[in-house]
Amino acid sequence: VADLTERALLDRIRAHTARRLGVAVGIGDDAAVLDGEPAEVVTQDFLVDGVHFRRATTSPEDLGHKALAVSLSDVAAMGAGPVAAVVGLGLPTEDEPSPEEIEALYRGMEALAERSGCTVAGGDISEAPALLLAVAVVGRVPRGGRPVLRSGASPDDVLCVTGALGASAAGLMLIDDPRLGAGLAEAEALRTTHRRPAPRLAAGRALAAGGATAMIDVSDGLALDALRLAVASGVAATIELERLPLAPGVAEVAVAAGREPDLLGATGGEDYELLAAVPEGALPALRVALDVPLTPVGRVERGVPGVRLLRDGVEIRPARLGWEHGAER
Ligand SMILES: [Mg+2]
Repeated sequence: VADLTERALLDRIRAHTARRLGVAVGIGDDAAVLDGEPAEVVTQDFLVDGVHFRRATTSPEDLGHKALAVSLSDVAAMGAGPVAAVVGLGLPTEDEPSPEEIEALYRGMEALAERSGCTVAGGDISEAPALLLAVAVVGRVPRGGRPVLRSGASPDDVLCVTGALGASAAGLMLIDDPRLGAGLAEAEALRTTHRRPAPRLAAGRALAAGGATAMIDVSDGLALDALRLAVASGVAATIELERLPLAPGVAEVAVAAGREPDLLGATGGEDYELLAAVPEGALPALRVALDVPLTPVGRVERGVPGVRLLRDGVEIRPARLGWEHGAER
């Protein structure tokens, strides 16, 4: 896997699998879409100790929350609502979590499931080389609605992002090196955002109902996820870095670490906000309808599919766009 990016690997997998009757959208979006009225979506995410989290710095409650949240975020990105989650739990024999830790993990997951109207409905437990959670979620598109794919953006759509960016990346930097947040009032809030991201379920449904043409959740970094949306839609995306809604405290942490605040917001990853392409005329009503801020950060145009980052009109080329499995980072 080392020399393959996630995208190249997915292309290979796709070449060996076929989409059959009943599946409207297969591999390549935030979730698969199953035919039906209403249509259903299904998605799965992995959290693996040492890859996505470290047990030493993650409480079981936070881990349970996050394992479900990342899958719910993919459901949100389709404009759907979650119905059921099935949970694969891999337990290491070395340093095995205690029954109390496993209870705490499911307590964290259940609290988020309850708030999200979702049932933890099954799963499997196995021995594994490391603690891992594989959470699959089935969701439903609201009756009369339609799933929002990555591929629907039209030239001249505005790119908008929900909430704020950079908090999760800054929070992780603070967990790794608390000195970066010395005296910073927002330090705990940033760490909490990293540990317990809030999937934008209501915002996703409102964006779908309000005319979003394409949507993706910001899991691996705004710039990389914008690239994915642009490539799927066959459009050229531009992100204006000075417009990014950085979460309070992000700039201070970035500066303390010698990083550029806008690039931390653009490439940090794990924000679990939504990036949507929206016709310009739909923007005012959407900004009223959403329960979180919706900020225009760029647009898409006809052109070679890709993403350009501009800082005050000057193109910036960061070393990496975000977190990609198997890629340089
Ligand atoms: Mg996603």
